[in-house]
Amino acid sequence: MHNVAPLLNHWIAGKPYEGSADRTADVFDPATGEITKVVALAATSTVDEAIAAAHEAFPAWRDTSLARRTQVLFAFRELLNERKEELAAIITAEHGKVLSDALGEVSRGQEVVEFACGIAHLLKGGLTENASTKVDVSSIRQPVGPVAIISPFNFPAMVPMWFFPVAIAAGNTVILKPSEKDPSAANWIAQLWDEAGLPAGVFNVVHGDKVAVDALLDNPRVKAVSFVGSTPIARYVYERGTANGKRVQALGGAKNHMVVLPDADLDLAADAAVNAGFGSAGERCMAISALVAVGDIADELVEKIRVRAEALETGDGRRGCDMGPLVTRAHRDKVAAYVDAGEEAGAKLVVDGRGVKPNGAENGFWLGPTLIDHVTTGMTVYTDEIFGPVLSVVRVETYDEALALINASDFGNGTAIFTNDGGAARRFQNEVEVGMVGINVPVPVPMAYYSFGGWKNSLFGDTHAHGVEGVHFYTRGKVVTTRWLDPSHGGINLGFPQND
Ligand code: NAD
Repeated sequence: MHNVAPLLNHWIAGKPYEGSADRTADVFDPATGEITKVVALAATSTVDEAIAAAHEAFPAWRDTSLARRTQVLFAFRELLNERKEELAAIITAEHGKVLSDALGEVSRGQEVVEFACGIAHLLKGGLTENASTKVDVSSIRQPVGPVAIISPFNFPAMVPMWFFPVAIAAGNTVILKPSEKDPSAANWIAQLWDEAGLPAGVFNVVHGDKVAVDALLDNPRVKAVSFVGSTPIARYVYERGTANGKRVQALGGAKNHMVVLPDADLDLAADAAVNAGFGSAGERCMAISALVAVGDIADELVEKIRVRAEALETGDGRRGCDMGPLVTRAHRDKVAAYVDAGEEAGAKLVVDGRGVKPNGAENGFWLGPTLIDHVTTGMTVYTDEIFGPVLSVVRVETYDEALALINASDFGNGTAIFTNDGGAARRFQNEVEVGMVGINVPVPVPMAYYSFGGWKNSLFGDTHAHGVEGVHFYTRGKVVTTRWLDPSHGGINLGFPQND
């Protein structure tokens, strides 16, 4: 197999890397189970070459006028918009999500590019005239330098796009290390930047695993790191990166609850639970994995979800199905093992995806929508992030019990409440310890001009992605105090400067 599968290599200094790869990883089409490529896994020395390219490109890019930088961003946006179907097809072929979902991913990434096109407004500083007599004070924000972006498999285009449009627009240079499971989107994006007129070295891609990540975390030329992935790796990246003096924002895993109060419209709640639980086969950090049914609505709600879940077609994402395969066979088996464990622990399987008949090749990594009722908080199907099409139903008596469940979780990425009671919703948004809250919105992913990020073990660091916080992460503040020589400023005074 390895002899025939083409090699996907890094992208360094404006072109595909020509060096050989000592180590590679297989890249699969999850809907067929076939190896379609092998991806290079960078050695430290190769990562250092990419960092050197970003380091060399930084001074000129930082000094390129904001007008010119923004023009490149606009050109990139136009090309992406024209050719987004190409990118969606690449995502489906390596991640497995259905084409319409892949296109949705690209569109949400494109929103951040559009936000970054207007960055001039956010890079404006302030100026106070005559702060002291004939002394002016101004503030400016400057780029930090070469920055690393390390991204997960589940959004191979959108997650990198949460970061690099803002980083580049602000005058930084970038080294992207995408997931080795679906690496091709990153090279396609690099090529598009080239066509948009971005100078060589401003956007680089290194493929790899822990070796590449460690090289990025340890190289002093990398000034900031944006990471997205599972919680243990996020914590590791945060600790190692900050110990090396870098700025780090590390977004981790999730376990998102959707609370349904007794007064909610149960049909709309059931639609939302199915969309948020099984979209992208549950491989979304904002997927709903625990449905918390409050009061006596549980039986009716579960029945409505069952009907909807059983009507979903699982299959090859290119065939117009509702839900695609999981990303790898190992991941599929891990998710299925959680279902086994839930069943053994006494939860009731209402819809069992383990025996799904897919509309796709026999060797695809299939697991159908799975609905498990009567899940309790001691079961691993509840406590662990499963990252698959498994929706657990937890039954509680009161709103307070529902809230306590969520606030006891180690994760705090997203949550949602379904109700028609404005007072209850308002109480929930105030009391819940989660970074992104939906009120009758099951997947509350913020728009690009707000910031994305969770609380607790869902984010290490203190700035969230994109929006104003993203601009702050990729820039450093500087305050300049100015006076132009004037006879009134003469004289010797060793006291601490005071304003008058
Ligand atoms: P992952 O943690 O396995 O990998 C993420 C990145 O870290 C990849 O680039 C990978 O190559 C690298 N990596 C893997 N092992 C490493 C190691 N030992 N040392 C250093 N780097 C390593 O995550 P994944 O499976 O690709 O993605 C799914 C996870 O990402 C889920 O936990 C999901 O919740 C999370 N996620 C979170 C958000 C968010 O916004 N909070 C968004 C998307 C995904």
